[in-house]
Amino acid sequence: MKITDIFKKQRRTFSFEFFPPKKYLTAVKFGINVGQLMKLQPSYVTVTYGAGGGTQGNTFDLVDLFQNKLGFTCMAHYTCVNATREKIAYDMRVLQDMGVENVMLIRGDQPKDQPNAFPNNDGFNYGGDLVKFVADQYDFCIGAGAYPEKHKEAPSFESDLDNLKRKVDSGADFLVTQMFFDNRYYWDFMDRVRKKGIDLRVIPGVIPITNYNQIKKFADLSGAHIPEALQKKMEAHPDDPDVIYRIGLEYAVEQSQDLLSNDAPGLHIYTLNKSRAAIDLYESLAEEFKDVKKDFEKSFQPHFPKYPI
Ligand code: FAD
Repeated sequence: MKITDIFKKQRRTFSFEFFPPKKYLTAVKFGINVGQLMKLQPSYVTVTYGAGGGTQGNTFDLVDLFQNKLGFTCMAHYTCVNATREKIAYDMRVLQDMGVENVMLIRGDQPKDQPNAFPNNDGFNYGGDLVKFVADQYDFCIGAGAYPEKHKEAPSFESDLDNLKRKVDSGADFLVTQMFFDNRYYWDFMDRVRKKGIDLRVIPGVIPITNYNQIKKFADLSGAHIPEALQKKMEAHPDDPDVIYRIGLEYAVEQSQDLLSNDAPGLHIYTLNKSRAAIDLYESLAEEFKDVKKDFEKSFQPHFPKYPI
């Protein structure tokens, strides 16, 4: 099913993002975590794509598994770093033949070991150009990335927003944000987005902090600010993962409640392939997602195999 069709039925969606595990043991843990998360009946799930290569084929395998073997609506992420137009066309046909209806189209970052990835003369240099190429030739529901705190390379909010508008006009059907921790960035961004004439759903991406050092690294890389008060609270407990977990979860619950009570169109949870925080977060918000659950129960057609896959 196209995610835009889910939007017609669900005023707000609750979705999970996964990445393909690299090693055997992490794959086993991944399976256990996914099993627990799927019981929450998400609106849809997404699988990231490694811009640097390596696990790209695993993305397609996992999308196939989620969608065709387990019966969940799934969105495949796809990046154009280092990809030629021919490769992109080929990969889109593979996804199409697999019955995938949703793609998250993003540029990807230049991998550290590929300093000459841009400019990409045989392909594209921006997410918007990839969106246009795919929207012009294929019938996918297209998601694209949005940056409430401005993309780290953009010289100004205005230029970033001009580029976002171009990307939307090229054929994006909805937007998902980079993680952020201070909702004021999201609301200010939404004001600018609406003033710019972009009326698509902009789904906030939320990440519960369960490992402070890891998330701080991601936040630094993506340009997301962790509020000082939260940093101080976390840094006061460097050796106590349980306290960090509790602080991170409480923060994510408050942040999510604020987003939903002010009418954000749902939440996209960056799970980092773990289940506990996402489950705890969901359970604290179960009332807000009652309609998602009802719709899931009506429309889900599970393909759970009788024997292990
Ligand atoms: P773009 O739209 O390409 O913008 C990037 C920069 O270029 C911005 O500063 C923008 O203002 C500028 N720009 C855009 N168009 C133009 C133009 N025409 N002329 C001049 N400047 C322009 N990375 C992965 O590797 N794999 C993933 O699966 C993945 N999933 C993601 C999912 C989401 C929801 C988000 C928000 C990010 C994801 N990323 C992923 C990270 C993403 O690849 C990086 O943030 C990347 O730097 C930007 O990609 P983009 O397509 O969103 O940005």
